[in-house]
Amino acid sequence: MTVQVHDGFPFHDRQDFADADRGFVGAMEPCVVTTESGRVIWDNDAYSFLDGDCPDTANPSLWRQSQLCAKQGLYQVTDGIYQVRGLDISNMTLVEGDTGVIVIDPLISKETAAAALALYRQYRGEREVTAVIYTHAHADHFGGVHGVYREGIPIVAGRGFVESAVSENVYAGTAMSRRAEYMYGAQLAKGPAGQIGSGLGQTTSLGSIGLIPPTLEITQTGQEERLDGVLIRFQMTPGTECPVEMNFLFPERRALCMAENATHNLHNLLTLRGALVRDARVWSRYLNEAIDLFADDADVAFASHHWPTWGRDRIVTYLSLQRDLYAYLHDQTLRLLNQGHTGPEIAEMMSMPPELDQAWNTHGYYGSVSHNVKAIYQRYLGWFDGNPAHLWQHPPVESAIRYVDCLGGAEAVVAKAQEYVDGGDLRFAAELLNHAVFADESDTAARSLLAEVYDTLGFGAENGTWRNFYLQGADELRHGVRPAALDSAGAADMISALTVDQLFDSVAIRIEGPKAWDAHLVIDWVFTDLGHTYRTSLSHGVLIQDVDPRHGSADLTVTLTKADLLGLFTGRGLGDLSTEGDTGVVATLLGVLDPPRGSFAIVTP
Ligand SMILES: [Zn+2]
Repeated sequence: MTVQVHDGFPFHDRQDFADADRGFVGAMEPCVVTTESGRVIWDNDAYSFLDGDCPDTANPSLWRQSQLCAKQGLYQVTDGIYQVRGLDISNMTLVEGDTGVIVIDPLISKETAAAALALYRQYRGEREVTAVIYTHAHADHFGGVHGVYREGIPIVAGRGFVESAVSENVYAGTAMSRRAEYMYGAQLAKGPAGQIGSGLGQTTSLGSIGLIPPTLEITQTGQEERLDGVLIRFQMTPGTECPVEMNFLFPERRALCMAENATHNLHNLLTLRGALVRDARVWSRYLNEAIDLFADDADVAFASHHWPTWGRDRIVTYLSLQRDLYAYLHDQTLRLLNQGHTGPEIAEMMSMPPELDQAWNTHGYYGSVSHNVKAIYQRYLGWFDGNPAHLWQHPPVESAIRYVDCLGGAEAVVAKAQEYVDGGDLRFAAELLNHAVFADESDTAARSLLAEVYDTLGFGAENGTWRNFYLQGADELRHGVRPAALDSAGAADMISALTVDQLFDSVAIRIEGPKAWDAHLVIDWVFTDLGHTYRTSLSHGVLIQDVDPRHGSADLTVTLTKADLLGLFTGRGLGDLSTEGDTGVVATLLGVLDPPRGSFAIVTP
């Protein structure tokens, strides 16, 4: 099996390397971050193999991107603005003020954030952190806040930040975390034939995640704030890379922060770990607005991933390319779907304008043209392509058993798959072998050939997350599912940031329907800290909530605080809470809950 590489890319263009090295102050040596107990949660030194030439187990374009992303250390962006890069998947930016330093986006983990701040202080002195800004509500931009926070400092974010930050991770969080293991390959061995990066950055750190809610809200474009003497002018960009995201200019420093709206790759309209679909049209519009608002006042544009771009003209070129990238994908997908083409068809038909293809920053290292086109189709038309043959298909195992039967049994399927491998059609070989594994997961011949096919597809992928998906799939075919390494204890902040509404929703989505079909119970929860009573009613397997109900009565009334409610559903039970009525209904409710499973199978049934 061999890797197929799209050639003709401008490898002679070394501008990105110059920009990624510009302003280098000093590196962290060694670049390994551990928890207090000594568990390694970040090891950038493990990527030193990227210094070598690209081996035939990697796509040269992704190899190049990983060389850039693996650069590590403290960098000066402009006078008084620094970035720590390569200490997590995201960047931490430090803006020096009158008395201390403002931190933009404190990475994922407390431990990597603290290490980044220490590296900065090593070169810039013991400046106190005077404010924190979250550019948007994704965990790699706020999770490490405890590593830099000082009591009483302002925390700045867009309106709706907390709701956005927690809601993305509440309802489908378990499945997303599991799929994120595939997407970032954080547990894969790093090496030329293993994990080499994720396109947007190298991988995710595996330390303690927290969340401290903002104290200063940004609500509109044009809003200005002065933090530690530094003037900041904001642009709200809701519905782009994140529902709550903002770009902002430091007019006195002539520096523009583009959050995660313009990075050196094609970003995701639908992240492969799973999420709500993003809006390419709006994304493009806000990039256009950013050029209009800020380009004349900026000498450098930086973001919370990758390296900055210097010079007014280069900033405009860069932002225009990014703008056109999302607009082109959006408009062409809509044009083609209105001619009757479906997502997988449009993904194959879509070719990008040559000028976009020749710019490195439009390449699909994180998002891809292929899966973004399908995401746009999904946003407008959903999962169904209109063909009735696809309306009521068998689920994977049932379908696989029938395919294997039609093809003359498992051995014949593997032999046929080998023919497709030999002919270079790995995509179809994967489909055949996946049927064989889903028809009989103990078929070792099918498993091992499928693992080889996944390896080769991964080695050929220009997209970092595709590579990680393939290699993680191969690893699990060979070794089974390994337990997750993430530290869930650090998620306590996230859980306590949930509203009571979201907490009851989280309970509702754990109810095992059939087990609860016949249960009927009503509980009134009187919250002394919120001044509201929530009524939850269980019937027909669903838990309905009402706030301050005006009619009817409950089987049980519990007087409590929100913290008590958290305790109740995380194993403490009613304890010594004040109650009136039948306390047995709580046991009934807890008895029908079905915990989520975080280590479910993906490449096997
Ligand atoms: Zn990010």
